[in-house]
Parts: sequence; C-alpha cells; structure tokens
Amino acid sequence: MPKYRKLMPPGEGGKIRYSKDGSVRTPDDPVVPFIEGDGTGPDIWRAARRVFDAAVEKAYGGKRRVVWFEVYAGEKANSVYGEEVWLPDDTIKAIRDYGIAIKGPLTTPVGGGFRSINVTLRQVLDLYACVRPVRWFEGVPSPVKDPAGLDVVIFRENTEDVYAGIEWPAGSKEAKLVIEFLNRVLKAEGKAVRAGSAVGVKPMSRRCTERLVRRAIRYAIERKRPSVTLVHKGNIMKYTEGAFREWGYALAAKEFGDLVVTEEDVSAKFGGKVPPGKILLSDRIADNMFQQILLRPREYSVIATPNLNGDYLSDACAAQVGGLGMAPGANIGDRAAVFEATHGTAPKYAGQDKVNPGSLLLSGAMMFEHIGWTEAADLIVAGISAAIRNKTVTYDLERQMEGAKLVKCSEFGEAVVAGMGAK
Ligand code: NAP
Repeated sequence: MPKYRKLMPPGEGGKIRYSKDGSVRTPDDPVVPFIEGDGTGPDIWRAARRVFDAAVEKAYGGKRRVVWFEVYAGEKANSVYGEEVWLPDDTIKAIRDYGIAIKGPLTTPVGGGFRSINVTLRQVLDLYACVRPVRWFEGVPSPVKDPAGLDVVIFRENTEDVYAGIEWPAGSKEAKLVIEFLNRVLKAEGKAVRAGSAVGVKPMSRRCTERLVRRAIRYAIERKRPSVTLVHKGNIMKYTEGAFREWGYALAAKEFGDLVVTEEDVSAKFGGKVPPGKILLSDRIADNMFQQILLRPREYSVIATPNLNGDYLSDACAAQVGGLGMAPGANIGDRAAVFEATHGTAPKYAGQDKVNPGSLLLSGAMMFEHIGWTEAADLIVAGISAAIRNKTVTYDLERQMEGAKLVKCSEFGEAVVAGMGAK
C-alpha cells in the first residue's frame, strides 16, 4: 500500500494577493510553500532558508516573517504520497492558493513518456514569463574582459513557440498528412516540404506576446531600468517572430504611451538622446543580439524574447558572467510565481553539504523583490557579494579563484549572513 499523507496548511500566516494591474499585496506573515528538491536540493534548501530568515529578521526586526510550508514534488513526493506520484495535486493546489512557491531542483525521471515536473508546473499554473536576471559578482572568474558590463533581466515567453511540443517524427502518418496538406492544399508559392521530413509547428499568439512584453516593460518602469529590447528572428520567420516584434511595439504604444520612446523617436525628436525618465524600446535580430551582448553589454538592460531565443540567450549570458551555478530564475504568471534554482540536482554530491547554494539564494532575493520586501532582497545580494569578495566560497568557485577559502554549502550560507549589510 502506498503511503499517503494529506497536505495540511500551516494553520497560521496570510496569503499573498495579486491585483488586476499586476501589483502584489503581501501580509506581514505570508505563507510560502517550498519544495526542497532532489539530490543536493535539501543541502541548498537548508542553507538558503537560514539566509532568508536572517535577511527578513535583519530587515524588519520581527515585524515581518515568512511562514514556510513544505509541499512535495519529485522523489520526496514518491516517498510521502506513494510511488509514481511525482507532482501531487495537493502541491499544485497549495501553490495556486498561496500564489507563490520556491523550489530546489527536481529529477526528471527518464522514459515512460513522463513530462518534466517543471514544465507541468509552468503549464498548469500558466506561469508565462520565465525571468532570468544575469549580473556579475565581483571576484567570480569570467571568460570576458568586462563582466561587470553585463546586467540584464531576460523575460522569456514560457508557454508557446516550438516548446508547444507540436511535432511529428519523419515518416509518421501524421507527418505525411501535414506535408500533404501543406504541399497540396496550402501550396505556398515556390515552396514544398520534402517528403519524408519530420515536421514541427511554431505557434505564437498576440495575447501571449503582449502579456510577456507588458510584464517586461512594467518591470523596467518599476525598477527604473533604462531600456527594453525585443529579441526576435523576424527577418526569417515573419509571421511568428516578426509578429512578436510588431505586437510588442504596438502594445508599448497603446499601454505605455509617453513612458516609452523608440530608437526612431530618439533620433527624430530628441536629438539622439533618450529623454530623462523615459524607457528606450528597441529590437534586435537574435543573431545580432548574441554578438551585441558580448561586445556592447552595457547597452542592454531588460530583454523580452520568445521561448527558444530566450532559452539560448539566458544560458549564454549566464556563462559570460561566470557560469550557470549562480544564475537564479523565476516563472511568473498573473496569479502565481515559482522561484527556482536553475541548475539540476547534481546527484553525485547529494547529502555532502558541498554545492553552491547561490542560485537558490538569488532566487529567494527575486522572490522577496516580487512580494515587495526589497530590503530583505538587498541584504541577501549584499551578503553574497561580500562572501565572494572575501573569497569564502564553495568548491565550484574555489577551484577557479586564486587564494580562496573552501567552505561547505552551509558555511557559505553563514558567510552570506555575516556579510549582510556590508558595503
Ligand atoms: P546538474 O545537476 O546541473 O549538474 C551538472 C554539474 O553542474 C554538476 O556535476 C556540477 O559540476 C555542476 N553543478 C550543478 N549544481 C551545482 C551547484 N549548486 N553548485 C556547484 N556546482 C553545481 O545537471 P545534470 O547532471 O544534467 O542533471 C541532474 C538532474 O537534474 C537530472 O535529473 C535533470 O533532469 C535534473 N535537472 C533539474 C533541473 C530543475 O529542476 N530546474 C534543471 C536541470 C536539470 P561539477 O561536476 O563540475 O562539480
């Protein structure tokens, strides 16, 4: 008989609420569901929770606190709910109900047509924006000359594009049918799909583009960031990626009016300078963007892009500032947000109190920013900066830094707490 434990809410604490205009209302004692994660997940979660509580205590001196609420997914859900239960309904209900969650990495079981837990969470909760801030921390080894020049926040569309997963294998009945339909019925002029090809579909809609671009522009306005760049491949895919660009500009003009200026406005009306208080909206073709971000990183701040471009660009940017180990991420919708470490479970190090908790810590900082607790977020970032500057780091950074002191995962957490408030 599988074990089954009904998830019980914590019986204390309040709920985060979302308004229609996208703003978040947070009680002083919000319930935040958390998923420890598999492999090294429990190690990094232990270190991170200690840092989160310390940051809130230091920022608000007991006036505010987080009521942590454990929910289950991955291997731990198997042991709590029974075999083959990877993502219990209870967990989804809890995240929906409390509107927020933070999670460690989860194993994706191989085979059996199993859908990734992360992908399922994004879809069932309609978490349409994948948000990835990428910045350099002084002292982290980087492959480029000016790593401090890169400080971007990437908004990647999370629900459509080729990730919609509509494709058929070469030679299948379905692929043959689609090819026949394309070649015989639609008859695109001068174009034909080769018989025996595999076929995939790339759906992109106005609605999903608009909500993503809206969120990116709102973010730039709220955080006083200077620009938003739409990254697309519209020169080749005119009606999908090209439309992303057009819909993006149209949305900005309609909803943000005077707050946003385009590159054309700047040269035609403002003598080549962005007027103070305005946000520059521009667009770049994806291949150009990959070289721009390397050569002129300081010209970019907030980036909004379709799913596949965003996938490539986020990892390329993270590598530029010293790797994926420290990159945080969030998946955000209109009614819920899930903050997560972006690396995997690193199972060979599980239980060794060894790996870097930086990605989860920075995801926590994003979470505190999201709920308006910016003082706690700033303390976490300051603590991490101080620990790295002092060269008190986990093995992954220690092996690349000269004269660094090697510490365990939990000790790194303590170094972050000690460094909070440092200049
Ligand atoms: P991985 O777990 O990210 O590990 C690959 C390597 O990255 C590790 O061996 C380690 O490098 C380094 N690494 C990862 N996390 C680190 C940390 N916190 N601190 C320092 N170094 C870290 O990738 P994987 O081995 O391909 O995937 C393992 C499992 O994770 C799979 O089941 C996969 O499906 C899952 N996964 C989950 C997520 C998620 O839940 N968001 C994301 C990706 C993968 P060294 O060996 O060089 O020390």
